[in-house]
Amino acid sequence: MDGVAREIRLVARPKGFPDEDLFELAETPIPDPAEGQLLVRNAYFSVDPYMRPRMNDVRSYVSPFTLGEAMTGGAVGRVAVSRHPGFDEGDWVQHGLGWREWALSDGSGVRKVDPTGAPVSTSLGALGMPGFTAYYGLFELGRPEPGETVFVSGAAGAVGSAAGQMAKIAGCRVLGCAGSPEKVAWLRELGFDHAFDYREQTLRDAVETAAPDGIDIYFDNVGGDQLEAAIGALRTRGRIVACGSISRYNDVEAAPGPRNMFMVVTKRLRIQGYIISDHYDGFGDFLARAQEWVREGRLHYRETVVDGIENAPKAFLGLLRGENVGKMLVKVGPDA
Ligand code: NDP
Repeated sequence: MDGVAREIRLVARPKGFPDEDLFELAETPIPDPAEGQLLVRNAYFSVDPYMRPRMNDVRSYVSPFTLGEAMTGGAVGRVAVSRHPGFDEGDWVQHGLGWREWALSDGSGVRKVDPTGAPVSTSLGALGMPGFTAYYGLFELGRPEPGETVFVSGAAGAVGSAAGQMAKIAGCRVLGCAGSPEKVAWLRELGFDHAFDYREQTLRDAVETAAPDGIDIYFDNVGGDQLEAAIGALRTRGRIVACGSISRYNDVEAAPGPRNMFMVVTKRLRIQGYIISDHYDGFGDFLARAQEWVREGRLHYRETVVDGIENAPKAFLGLLRGENVGKMLVKVGPDA
């Protein structure tokens, strides 16, 4: 196919909080698919917190981004040309070749998306990886019982907003915190029993007011001080769903851990981390339930959409600064 395809490359590694100079907008010819491949015109791609640790040259559960190459991540788009037996031209697909306008794929990690049920962008948010992360973490690891109290940090983000609403669906009392009055107002609309701005009120004060008997489950998106405060607030046999630690992702030196770890022993707490990509055999069950909750109006979502691939670094840095309400996305092509 004739034309120019634009992509974002990482050209240097950050020290501390990243800046836009680390990224480069590059142009290449639109690729032609060979036998067994498909070419996708991306509509949206996702910027996610886990991409920040991937910018470092450190071995982890996922390899670091390679300097000078297009970055990768979740994306959704329409098949423009297919020479793959599993996909037809016009199919909507979700895949892992984000940060670019056109994606050439051999079909691995590509799943079809129904463009009629919900906006295709939700395949990157409430009905995609972040929603599944909330679902798995809450139900498999948190194991909420009706009447229990759940506290969610990062509650107005993609994962947190889903986790809090799912805890309500499970019959729990839900507390959540986020970083602005607008976000707090949205959490109240979503039915959180108590929502507060962590820049205005400490978790300890919020729990004293809203849950004086303590919390049973802490869904941790943030780590750091909030994790320490949550350990203090958990009741005996409480559970910590260790989902993420965004407050630490820009640290240059590893910060000391919670000072009250001994309480894990005295309160018989369970703390369990997880990486959602290990659990995709359960994605179909999640999707069926989440689609139903969306249809029934029990699971709401918001998206913050930044337009144009040239603005993707801004969107990513904005995510790290908390400029998103709900899922942060970059729109790079025609929607369904
Ligand atoms: P979000 O949509 O929640 O966006 C990130 C949010 O983090 C920002 O909006 C900001 O909100 C908050 N934040 C940024 N810096 C800080 C800070 N220093 N202290 C407190 N909050 C901060 O992102 P996701 O929903 O995609 O991800 C949420 C968490 O889940 C992340 O930690 C991520 O790494 C983790 N995750 C884990 C997965 C797994 O497999 N374990 C899979 C997917 C995500 P605010 O304005 O409220 O500060």
